[in-house]
This record gives sequence, structure tokens and C-alpha cells, in this order.
Amino acid sequence: MLATRNEHKVVELHRLLAPHVPGLADDAVVSVAGAVALGLPDPGEVAETGVTFAENSLLKARAVAAATGLPAVADDSGLCVAVLGGAPGVFSARWAGRHGDDAANLRLLLDQLADVPEPHRAAWFECAAALCLPDGDETVTTGRLTGTLTTAPRGDGGFGYDPVLVPDGDTRTCAELAPAEKDAISHRGQAVRALLPRLTDVLGGTGAGRGEV
Ligand code: IMP
Repeated sequence: MLATRNEHKVVELHRLLAPHVPGLADDAVVSVAGAVALGLPDPGEVAETGVTFAENSLLKARAVAAATGLPAVADDSGLCVAVLGGAPGVFSARWAGRHGDDAANLRLLLDQLADVPEPHRAAWFECAAALCLPDGDETVTTGRLTGTLTTAPRGDGGFGYDPVLVPDGDTRTCAELAPAEKDAISHRGQAVRALLPRLTDVLGGTGAGRGEV
């Protein structure tokens, strides 16, 4: 199961796994809410006390694997802005306050960078993906998507900071890319693909049915 309450990530992870896990059921990747709806124990809110993406991904996946007894995948990801020294980074979801309001986070970031001209607007999405097994086995992989920040949001796709990051080599923001185009280059795509050999080993042993990812 995917140790997240963000349903966008469930959709992305399913899309990333499907080509590599033959017979992956449509509902095989479940979020924390999905798992609770299936009757699995609720691991509760996991405090993201880590200061790196890897630490936080492990905290979330460990908590869910321990609570449910199932292999758990978690990602921790965020936007890092060069001129802000890598911030918001692990604080991306909480940048405008603890509420995790994507629109408020985006507005605040654009306001903070209002006077920064294009050559200094380099930024990247970063992701750590962790796979934790109930027996304590742990794997962490990472991915990074580099680009430049726009001065105003563009596009309706994706989520979070997608409308303001233009990947290197493109003129469109991540929110203007088709989902498959984003997956091919995204930080989460890279991290999950790097996790696939281990993940398919584990799934190969347990099947790929509902609730078993
Ligand atoms: P997490 O759910 O704790 O990993 O927080 C992720 C934060 O980074 C949220 O604020 C997201 O909006 C942002 N983020 C992570 N991945 C992406 C992405 O692919 N596109 C846009 N924003 C992202």
C-alpha cells in the first residue's frame, strides 16, 4: 500500500507500476484512507520529523508497514529552489502553514520570488521513495527533475507546484504536460522506477491483488 493521504500520488504510482507489474489490479495501489476503508488498521498521522526526503519517506513507509503488516511504499517529495538555498524542500507541503494548502503554498512562493529574474529561477522537484517490509527490510531510491520557475502559474494538469516548474529542455510547465510525459521525466517516476526491481520481487512473492502493494 502507498503510505500517503494524497490521492494524486496513488494515481501516479499506479500509472508508474502498471507497465512493470503484469496483472496489476485497478485498485491494487491503496492510500492510507483506502486501506482503512478495506478494514486495515489506521497507522495514524505520521509526523514528518525528518530533515531529508529520504528520512521522511522511511518514517511514513515504516509506520504503515508496522501498522498493517503489509509491504508499504512511501514517497516524500518537494520543490527545491536554488536561490532559496533548496527551500521549501521538505517543507514544501507546509510552506504557507501546516494546512498543506497547495494554492496558498504556490502563491507564497511566487510572491517571495517576485523580484528574481529568469536566469536565477532554477529549481527542481526531488523525491525519495521508500519500500519497507514488515520484517524490517528497507530500500530507498531518489529522483530529481530540474527546471526553471515561471512568474505565474500555467496549466491545469498535475498538482502542487506543477504549474510553475518548466522542466529543462521544455517550454511547458509540468501542469501543461500529458500525464505520461510527466511520468517519463518526473522525480517520482525516476525514484519509483529505481525501486521497481525490489518492488516487483516483493510483489512477485505476494501477488498483485487488491491491497497487496
Ligand atoms: P509530501 O506529500 O509530504 O511528499 O509533500 C509534497 C509537497 O511537494 C507538496 O507540497 C506537493 O505539492 C509538492 N510536490 C511533490 N511532488 C510534486 C509534483 O510532482 N508536482 C508538484 N508538486 C509536487
